[in-house]
Amino acid sequence: MKILATDLDGTLYLDTVLIDGVKSAYNSLILNNFTLFHTTNNSSQSTDLICSKLQNLLNMDIDISSIITPLTILENFLINKNNSIYVFGSSEVKNFISNISDTVSDINNCDLIIIGRVDSPSYEKLDIICEAIKSGTKCITLNKDLTYPISKTELKPGNGQIAKYVESKSSQILDSLGKEGHLYSQYFFDRNIKLDYVVGDRVDTDIIFGNNVGAKSILVESSIENHMSTTIADERFKDFPSFVSSII
Ligand SMILES: [Mg+2]
Repeated sequence: MKILATDLDGTLYLDTVLIDGVKSAYNSLILNNFTLFHTTNNSSQSTDLICSKLQNLLNMDIDISSIITPLTILENFLINKNNSIYVFGSSEVKNFISNISDTVSDINNCDLIIIGRVDSPSYEKLDIICEAIKSGTKCITLNKDLTYPISKTELKPGNGQIAKYVESKSSQILDSLGKEGHLYSQYFFDRNIKLDYVVGDRVDTDIIFGNNVGAKSILVESSIENHMSTTIADERFKDFPSFVSSII
């Protein structure tokens, strides 16, 4: 039995549409006894929402525990900890975190800051966060994606741009809960899940993740951009279906 972790946005689908050939490629992986994990840096949607989107697109049952987002990693990270968390992020992210931990609205009363994506970040608030970090408060970002896809062809600034600002102003490197961070890989190590393949469309997240967990890292070129040299990928394919044909 082989285990494969696949990215979602830009790899299985673009926006709300499956990439050509993905449905039958996905089916043949299942028929050939592959175990699949769905790995994404999307932290603005719950795993329930992502799961039902996948089920609808692929027209099959998907095990929700196979969907690993930065929020999954965060929930796991917070187990048996009693943090008071200050959240910089959307109301969805704030709600999610307040359901799994104590959150505070006064940054002076927190011992952990979580950075998530917002459409129009307040630099005044970010500067206050940077001061808190400089005074020793721990800060983690949900991911370091520089861009955020809002449709097939449009991108918005991502969480990574906020994280970059905070890193440069506070002179500290933030831990990330995204695929590029060590906590994401650790989630698989802790469960003794040995990934054979990691597939995705971005070098700065998917390929780094694949290399970190010692899997064969597969770059697919079905989406818009890559932010780093593609030479660190073990193999490159036009899209997910052509990769699947190469292993089945
Ligand atoms: Mg992607």
